[in-house]
Amino acid sequence: MRDTLPLLDAIPFPALKRGRLDTLQVNVGYRCNQSCVHCHVNAGPNRTEEMSGDIADLVLAVLDRRAIGTLDITGGAPELNPHFRRLVRGARARGVRVMDRCNLTVLSEPGQENLAAFLAAEQVEIVASMPCYLADNVERQRGKGVFDGSIRGLQRLNALGYGRDEGLVLNLVYNPQGPSLPPPQAALEAEYKRILGEAYGIVFNNLFVLANMPIQRFGSMLVSKGEIDGYLQLLQDAHLDANLDGVMCRSLISVDWQGYLYDCDFNQMLDLPLARGEKPRAQLSDLLDTDFDGHQIRVAGHCFGCTAGQGSSCGGALEAAE
Ligand code: SF4
Ligand code: SF4
Repeated sequence: MRDTLPLLDAIPFPALKRGRLDTLQVNVGYRCNQSCVHCHVNAGPNRTEEMSGDIADLVLAVLDRRAIGTLDITGGAPELNPHFRRLVRGARARGVRVMDRCNLTVLSEPGQENLAAFLAAEQVEIVASMPCYLADNVERQRGKGVFDGSIRGLQRLNALGYGRDEGLVLNLVYNPQGPSLPPPQAALEAEYKRILGEAYGIVFNNLFVLANMPIQRFGSMLVSKGEIDGYLQLLQDAHLDANLDGVMCRSLISVDWQGYLYDCDFNQMLDLPLARGEKPRAQLSDLLDTDFDGHQIRVAGHCFGCTAGQGSSCGGALEAAE
């Protein structure tokens, strides 16, 4: 794996400060039943890092203490963590909105037969990666058999009311195949709805269009192909100051499987931790007595991936979201 951080750290980015915390994004581990080319987490079936039950309990305590509105659970395939369902139940019992970054194929994994029904019963919002409506493109990024598995997963969720019924939100995520900016979100969403509807009878709520981050597996691939400089320049050239207010690190804190804190999931993957005073790595327990409002955000060249063009956040394009 080629490290892109030295390149990213050499690129200046406008200073940013944290605002009011409303989302805790928790990465419960790197194990995944897939190993996608664009994965910024470098997840896969052989990864063993996994959040413990004690840290999952601390997540629930922080939700209480900080009155956090949204718990965004990610991985790996977060559902493979043995404490996933307890975390979901605990957060929902507190009235917290829960989002599950679901890869869809995990719904058919052995032992996960009742996962879709569980998610529906808890009214968990599903955010699912679907980088294209064409099988070849999906499988080039996400592996053989993933397209059919994803379609089956979507159909199963639709059968439970996802994408149709109130409270059962199903959002899809698109990211480009290579080092280019994503197309406009609204037009692509309409095309996805038409094609997935006509071909497979699938319905969903929104399509989130995200730029690929020049880090981890995708960044390393660009370095190997000699395309990293061109992509970093493309992101910088497309930067819009208007997107700075909406970047997710202003209102979100990312937590890793060991309970360490970061300004966002990308900083987590680059190992750029959130510091607290003299302490180089703040921990989940720090959130019991501070919310980091006004704290300086650790920015570098990858941040242009959030502010280029229509912008990218955990809720898709920033302009469109506004
Ligand atoms: S499904 Fe998601 S977490 Fe798993 S390898 Fe693919 S991108 Fe990474
Ligand atoms: S990558 Fe995006 S979300 Fe993360 S710190 Fe930079 S601007 Fe914020």
